[in-house]
Amino acid sequence: MEQKTVLIIGAGMAGAEAAAQLAANGIRVCLIEKEPEAGGNVKNWAKLFPDFAVAQDVRGRVFGQLNHPGIELHAGAAIATLSESRGRWTAEDEHGQRYEADAVLLASGFTPFDAGRKEELGHGIYGNIITSVEYEQAILTGRLLTTEGQVPRRVAFLNCVGSRDEKVGNNYCSRVCCINAVKQAIEYKELVPDGEAYVFYMDLRMSGQCYEELYRRAQQEFSVNFIRGRISEASGTIDHRVQLKAEDTLTGLPLRITVDLFVLMVGMEPSAGTKRLASQCGIAGEYGFARAAGTFTADNLTDRPGLFLAGTCKRPLTIPETLADARSAALQIMEYLK
Ligand code: SF4
Repeated sequence: MEQKTVLIIGAGMAGAEAAAQLAANGIRVCLIEKEPEAGGNVKNWAKLFPDFAVAQDVRGRVFGQLNHPGIELHAGAAIATLSESRGRWTAEDEHGQRYEADAVLLASGFTPFDAGRKEELGHGIYGNIITSVEYEQAILTGRLLTTEGQVPRRVAFLNCVGSRDEKVGNNYCSRVCCINAVKQAIEYKELVPDGEAYVFYMDLRMSGQCYEELYRRAQQEFSVNFIRGRISEASGTIDHRVQLKAEDTLTGLPLRITVDLFVLMVGMEPSAGTKRLASQCGIAGEYGFARAAGTFTADNLTDRPGLFLAGTCKRPLTIPETLADARSAALQIMEYLK
């Protein structure tokens, strides 16, 4: 194959894996990342569900592949415009640098839901209310403490923050936060065995391999309490704890509980880059995610020849799904370039 160039937008898991597959097949890859370094959302993670794999090891395996002479990484450069003319794609970044390619892979990923949009849940207003991303960073740095520097004795996790929520315009399920809440509750119980952990949920979606087993372990081995309930309000108490007003939707009874730490399991939204580029290229789908050409056999293709999709720019996906999707996209691109 005459050497071709593929521009990949986004150097998270999907972009890195696709870049490695393409470069291994003799294709020149220009990989563009808006952040100062490659890594995507996974760089903030300590351990991954469902098997508590060390995220750094997984990252090392995926991003280690970028050390290939066929891959040129441009970090700190957000793509501002993307266009196509006569089968050639041209992108320009925010600094005015232009890139030309024979095909483009959009792998611009997701952004965690901004919990501040759910004002009633108190994030950014009261202390000791954090998101699942901030919880992960606390685990990563070994400092899971309250704002007052104490070990939290009682922690509540709330599922579906920013997902399955008409009020914020996101009716979809983010697919990973149920199992992530189970993982994070277990991590808490491992750190504080005599502490209390509560997970509030609408319904639990344990569809992945080993998810159900982990959920059972959380209940039986770690005594995590799962409450089918809605939390309508979180507020601070005089002694810096968090009071939750809830409804137990099994009994229909109102419930109040005071906790030391309240964790909001935030869902996935399309990143700003995904929204902007999908809209520019006429492939914006529901909720601003990029729209694939078809559900079954064209999930990496778009209505624009030469423009491909991989990973969470399309919809919420787990990491294994994202990696498999990236490899699939690389195959589709190779087929197209032939
Ligand atoms: S995975 Fe669970 S927590 Fe996340 S949106 Fe779906 S139901 Fe809610």
